[in-house]
Amino acid sequence: MDEDLLRVALSTTGFMPPEEGLALYEAARAAPSGLIGEVGTYCGKSTVYLAAAALSMASASPSASASPSDSASPSDSASPSAGAAVVTVDHHHGSEENQPGWEYHDPTLVDPATGRLDTLPHLRRTLARAGVEDVVTVVVGRSEQVGRWWRTPLAMLFLDGGHTEEQAQADYEAWAGHVDRGGTLAVHDVFPDPADGGQAPYHVFLRAVADGFTPTSTVGSLRLLRR
Ligand code: SAH
Ligand code: MG
Repeated sequence: MDEDLLRVALSTTGFMPPEEGLALYEAARAAPSGLIGEVGTYCGKSTVYLAAAALSMASASPSASASPSDSASPSDSASPSAGAAVVTVDHHHGSEENQPGWEYHDPTLVDPATGRLDTLPHLRRTLARAGVEDVVTVVVGRSEQVGRWWRTPLAMLFLDGGHTEEQAQADYEAWAGHVDRGGTLAVHDVFPDPADGGQAPYHVFLRAVADGFTPTSTVGSLRLLRR
């Protein structure tokens, strides 16, 4: 992975261990060319790994070279092909466990004007620092609400949103059907043993297998499957 992007990813606040982030990056590179969707952006740590993959695919793809019709664009050399982009969805007010009084609350992420957790300004800084604003589209909204009108097929989907049973299942329901045949589904925080963590993402993983997704690899709590 590009060293500068890796440095940004490593120094961004969030919940993505380096080994799993790199596995996510490799999985995105190995996925068919197309749109990469993420549910659960937080401050953009995992988003940077996905964006790095999208950028590397764009520069490797022959279709990424400027065609005469778009050669007037000021950013052709930097802009990705249509086949390599990331869209990341979050309401940016944090999950249950990020709220005050909970285990994963970070008081530095509270907006003093509203008193609510607000990761959006931090995400914007991450994307600017990484220089990936041209490959990442930020959608601010509730996952299930956005999923209701979403119509674009995904080459890869990374599920890392709310981890209550209800939310994790709702995210799967809203998004898994958009993964292309041959596309990749990645589920984070999968812990088969309840002693290691909450069970909702594991239940989502099992549901995906029951729905016909084929598990391909496991790195830490990251599960990769192919549709
Ligand atoms: N991928 C991130 C971590 C995500 S944490 C990283 O690499 O660090 C989970 C995120 O899911 C939080 O930012 C929270 O705001 C978001 N989330 C929880 N429930 C959500 C919902 N219903 N809709 C949209 N986002 C949600
Ligand atoms: Mg996670």
